[in-house]
Amino acid sequence: MKITSMPASNPIIHAPEAMWGSLLRERALSAAIEYDHSAILGWFRDHSSFYSDRIGSRQVWEQVRPLEKSDVAEVPVSVDDSIREARTSGTSGFQVSIRNNLRERRFRRALLYRPQLFYDLPAEVHQVVFVDGNWCAEAGMAPKLFEYGGVRYRTWFAGVAADVGQIHSLLRSLRPQLIRGISSGIVRFIDQADDSLRNLGVRYLAPGGEFLQPEWRKTMHDAFGATVLDCYGSTESGAIAWQCPLCRRYHANVDEIVLEADADGLLVTPLFVSSQPLLRYRLGDIVSFDAGSADCEIRLPTITIQQARRDDWVIGHDGRRVSPLSFQFEQIPHLDAWRLHQNHDGSLCLYFESVHPDIVAKELGRQLADAVPNQPFEVHEGIWRLGRGGKFKRVSSDLT
Ligand SMILES: [Zn+2]
Repeated sequence: MKITSMPASNPIIHAPEAMWGSLLRERALSAAIEYDHSAILGWFRDHSSFYSDRIGSRQVWEQVRPLEKSDVAEVPVSVDDSIREARTSGTSGFQVSIRNNLRERRFRRALLYRPQLFYDLPAEVHQVVFVDGNWCAEAGMAPKLFEYGGVRYRTWFAGVAADVGQIHSLLRSLRPQLIRGISSGIVRFIDQADDSLRNLGVRYLAPGGEFLQPEWRKTMHDAFGATVLDCYGSTESGAIAWQCPLCRRYHANVDEIVLEADADGLLVTPLFVSSQPLLRYRLGDIVSFDAGSADCEIRLPTITIQQARRDDWVIGHDGRRVSPLSFQFEQIPHLDAWRLHQNHDGSLCLYFESVHPDIVAKELGRQLADAVPNQPFEVHEGIWRLGRGGKFKRVSSDLT
C-alpha cells in the first residue's frame, strides 16, 4: 500500500480507535509497503521552520541529515494539553525527552499489542507486566482494563525489584496467560523463585525493553514451559519489531515507522507522531533487513537485530563473572537512577542520582562491596559523568 502523506493524514491513527486493532491486523497481512518519501518530506517541511531549514530544497530522502539525540530538544512541540513527556534512560551519555499527546500514546499501545493479535489467546486474558520499581500488585486489586483485537486484557503490575514471594503469590492467584515486561526483571524473578513455575498456566512470555540474550530466552522458556516471543522498540519510536508466533522472525512495523538500516545505526521516522515529529532519528542499534520475505502469512518484512543496547557482566576480584542482575539497587530509598561501569583495570565506578546523595552513596557502597568483594570502587553523584552506555544499559565494562 502507498502512504501518500504523513502523519497528518496517516490512516490508522486517524481512524476510530476501536478499529485500530483490526486495521493493524489487516495491514500486517497485506502486501509490501511503499513510501512516498517526497510527500513525507513535504509534510515535515510544512511542520516548522526547524524542519524546513533542515530539509531545505532537498528532494532526496537520504540527503536529509539524520536527527541526532542532541537535536531532539530543538524539535518544536505542538501545543496540546494532553502531551506528556517520557525520558529515555540515557543511551550515549544523555537522556532525551520524548513528547506524545494522548492519542499518540494510545496508538503506541495499539502498536505494542499488535503481536498479540496473532497469539492464540482466550477472549479474556490475565496478564502480569514486570515494570521498573519495587512495588507489586496483589491479586485482589482492581486490574487495569484494555480491550483490543477482540480480547479483554486485565493487567496487574509487578516491580522487578519487588519481593519475590509477593510476585510468586500474585502469579499463583491470577494464573496469567501472558507475562510481559522487562527481560532482566523476569529472569531475576525466575532465578530467585525457589518453586516450579510450570504449573501456573502461562502460555506466552513477551519480554521487551532490553536485548533478549539467548540464555535469558532459554531460562524463561524452561522455567514457565511457555512460548517466548521477544519485542523490540524504543521510547523514541514505540514498538519497532516483534517476534512472530508463526515464523519466529522479527516482523518490523514498517507501515507505521520508516526504518533505515543505516551502517551507523538504525534511523527511525515514526509516521503516527505529529506532536513532536522525528525525521530520520538515529536510534543507534545495528539492525539489518533479512534477505527475501519470510515464509509467513504476515507480510511485514523481517529484521535481525545485530547489535543492541545490552548490559555487560562485571568481573570480580577472583575472576568470577558477576551478572548485572546481582545489582538490586532499586530497593534503596531515594535512589532515582544508577549506572555501574568497570574500568580497564577492573576497578568499578558507580554513578547515581538522588535527592539525598550522602545517605544513598553510603548504602550503594555497602551493597556494591557485598556484590563484588575486594574490587576497588568509587561512587559518584551524577549519571551524566559517564559518557557512554546503552538504552536500558545499567552495567557496562571495559574489562575483557
Ligand atoms: Zn511471521
